Amino acid sequence: LSQLFRPLDLLGMVYRTIRQGVIDMGAMFDLIDTPAEIVDMPDASALHISDGHVRFENVRFGYDADRAILKGIDLDVPAGSTLAVVGPSGAGKSTLARLLFRFYDPTGGRITIDGQGIAQVTQQSLRAGIGIVPQDTVLFNDTIGYNIAYGRADATDAEVQAAARGAAIAGFIDQLPDGYATRVGERGLKLSGGEKQRVAIARTLLKDPPILILDEATSALDSRTEAEIQTTLQAIERGRTTIVIAHRLSTIVHADQIVVLDAGRVAERGTHAGLLAKGGLYAEMWARQQAERERAEAAE
Ligand code: ADP
Ligand code: MG
Repeated sequence: LSQLFRPLDLLGMVYRTIRQGVIDMGAMFDLIDTPAEIVDMPDASALHISDGHVRFENVRFGYDADRAILKGIDLDVPAGSTLAVVGPSGAGKSTLARLLFRFYDPTGGRITIDGQGIAQVTQQSLRAGIGIVPQDTVLFNDTIGYNIAYGRADATDAEVQAAARGAAIAGFIDQLPDGYATRVGERGLKLSGGEKQRVAIARTLLKDPPILILDEATSALDSRTEAEIQTTLQAIERGRTTIVIAHRLSTIVHADQIVVLDAGRVAERGTHAGLLAKGGLYAEMWARQQAERERAEAAE
């Protein structure tokens, strides 16, 4: 774990650079919208992650004072377990991820990791301990190898390649004329949404954080590639605290707990089997997606 707490947290650095307006990377993460002024408290200490127990206690939040987005959210994610968050678009799912990464502070309640309030620790230590695969990844105008390694400047070529294999992008990179040295981004090779998503997954595999957030991390992938990566994702979820925001419910059947978020409130929570038996919102969403899948298969 010690290497996760290297003093040089690149993400923190990049983030500060953005804040200083040196480069326009506001879209680097879908998570970075227009961050409020989040600053470390004068006496902030480093977050110490012993187990990775994440809690949201009655968390309230709105981007604007006159519109509440999260209306009192309680979540308890025991160390090493997987929490899945599902629900309609606009329910506030990505907002939960942004609050855990502290792009914003809640207007009420608090978020803790192993009992430490995340507002009381340094942002650098917080972000070093959390890996995010965002909904939409914007790449740096640099090589594809750099884009994979940027969270871990000291990674060896072998480590970068192993991460690329885990994210099912190694084959794609190997057939590029310049391989890992191929330039990507606006001034280089344009990657598809699914390829960018796989770069983000490789980056997170390499960062190897104790806490993982997957925000519709495979939404841009076709179902075959998704199935391929799903195996890897489930392997990295093992032994670390994971919050997975999912569109396709078939990808979160294994979660230890599932929360259905609707209009900023927890509408239902339970396991896949429990929620199906309940016959509520989740069961409805499941039935709808199963029907869609059968229709798609019949059309093939
Ligand atoms: P989900 O991920 O469940 O689709 P989000 O958490 O992204 O939903 O968004 C929840 C609500 O907050 C939506 O109504 C969205 O329009 C609004 N929202 C998201 N980001 C911002 C922002 N930066 N400023 C204002 N409103 C926002
Ligand atoms: Mg979202």
